[in-house]
Amino acid sequence: MGANKPKPPSAARNLEVRPRAEGANKPKPSSAARILEVRPRAEGVNKPKPSSAARTLKSGRNSHNPMHAEDTIAAIATAQGESGISIIRISGPDAIAVADRVCLDRNRNKRIKSFAPNTIHLGYAADADGGILDEVLVSVFKAPSSYTAEDTVEINTHGGIYVTHRVLDAVLAAGCRLAEPGEFTKRAFLAGRIDLAEAEAVMDVISSESEFARKAAVSALTGTLSGKVRDMRERILYETAFIESALDDPENYDLDGYAEKLREKTLALIREMSALLSRASDGAVLKEGIRTAIIGKPNAGKSSLLNALSGEDRAIVTEIAGTTRDTLEEKVRIGECVLRLIDTAGIRNTEDVVEKIGVSRARSAAAEADLLLAVFDASKELAGEDEEIASLVREAAARGKRAVAILNKSDLPARIREEEITALLEKGPDGCVAEGDPGAASPAVPPVSVPILTLSLAEPFTGLEELKSEILSLFGAGELMRSREALLVNRRHAEAMAEARAALQQVLAGIDSGVSEEFYAGDLMAAYAALGRIIGEQVDDDLAEEIFSRFCLGK
Ligand code: GDP
Repeated sequence: MGANKPKPPSAARNLEVRPRAEGANKPKPSSAARILEVRPRAEGVNKPKPSSAARTLKSGRNSHNPMHAEDTIAAIATAQGESGISIIRISGPDAIAVADRVCLDRNRNKRIKSFAPNTIHLGYAADADGGILDEVLVSVFKAPSSYTAEDTVEINTHGGIYVTHRVLDAVLAAGCRLAEPGEFTKRAFLAGRIDLAEAEAVMDVISSESEFARKAAVSALTGTLSGKVRDMRERILYETAFIESALDDPENYDLDGYAEKLREKTLALIREMSALLSRASDGAVLKEGIRTAIIGKPNAGKSSLLNALSGEDRAIVTEIAGTTRDTLEEKVRIGECVLRLIDTAGIRNTEDVVEKIGVSRARSAAAEADLLLAVFDASKELAGEDEEIASLVREAAARGKRAVAILNKSDLPARIREEEITALLEKGPDGCVAEGDPGAASPAVPPVSVPILTLSLAEPFTGLEELKSEILSLFGAGELMRSREALLVNRRHAEAMAEARAALQQVLAGIDSGVSEEFYAGDLMAAYAALGRIIGEQVDDDLAEEIFSRFCLGK
């Protein structure tokens, strides 16, 4: 791309749209030189100042938006249900005045306005007529030292559903509106207290269901990923600024031999991005839970496997073939991860309408799964249905999906051996891939290597622990858990980084084809912009809106 551009892109022009990190004022072309002089690279890891997205949203482009930050909002921040306490959070310029209208101190005086910031007080919440609603604790935070970076008051009520709503009603009647889902966190983002990756991490911490998901979310929340991204952006910006400066001021900035230096620096960036990206897809799968389809002919032991893994009688186990007609999803924790198990209807040719739906679901579940657990009944001769199972496994493996073949019922006299399963998976039923079989892998697909484990799912189970560790190792869970590096587990972030890497690869292509330096600047800035989307420096309003709307109410 770099080599074919009709006109050298102006780094200066790109720098003009550049967001916050480089100072509040738009730099003029000559300011590129200033950046080189006054901005040491290490600065990139500092906490963000208000992001450009924040400025854009605040600056009126978004004034139609109900989620603007000028008014005062309130919501119940705790889960709805009976509990020890509930918290009502109020944020915005009138937060303290609103709380003052509702809350009394322990002597039943209205004194909230005079409370020192960051203090907690025992008192009462009262309705408009002065009737006491509940005994409460009132916490007062002054801007910018609060979650939202605005004045914030949190009222801890007793955790009854009714009493909490009565206090919330009193707060709303005292002069604020109900917050939208995620609006408190959005305000923290708009105020520049956290960046977009950190805001998303808040939601990820809340929704994490496994140690891996929690660890990845906290790593993003504490800014590990953002710091890495900022550092990369600073390094890219430095090069852009250098090129621009050299073009503006060739006497002081020498481009002789620069292409080779840029090549090395770009390669280093590409390597760092590749290291993050290489683990991104497994990380995302582990974070969200491994979508696992259990497939096998009727009675092979699929429901028994689901039950054994989940440790409870979730799916109905029966001796009548074909009773598991629908699909069930069960979340099962194994080690530090979660399997999202889908028990599929037995795969077989059937005239039964209900079962037909189940069979097609089994096929589509297999197509969607990150992991296939293919169950074969070792106590029965291989049947045509097993061939279909094997072909589903081959297709999945050919698409880069993981699969484990399970030779079940090892407690009964064996009718099939492991080698037969190996042969079936590698070559198909007759030692070659059957032509014209719509379910079979195409002859072009190379033989797949799928681990085969022998299990018994009749009590006492055997082989279950081996199966669990095999699954974790297939997804590199141990290595990812031990990693102290930033983890790129959010698919949106991974896409943006892949785009940034592609742009840097264009820079390399430009250097290799010997085009002049100014051509690189456009691709460097494309990489810079793509990285900016991760932390929210360059996001459009719709994306920010979409991300925050996924939050729960009161967060
Ligand atoms: P599905 O149709 O594939 O879901 O199979 P089920 O899990 O419902 O199992 C079918 C029958 O096989 C049930 O009676 C199970 O108790 C039995 N079964 C499953 N696994 C084993 C095993 O490892 N050994 C023995 N002996 N029986 C098993």
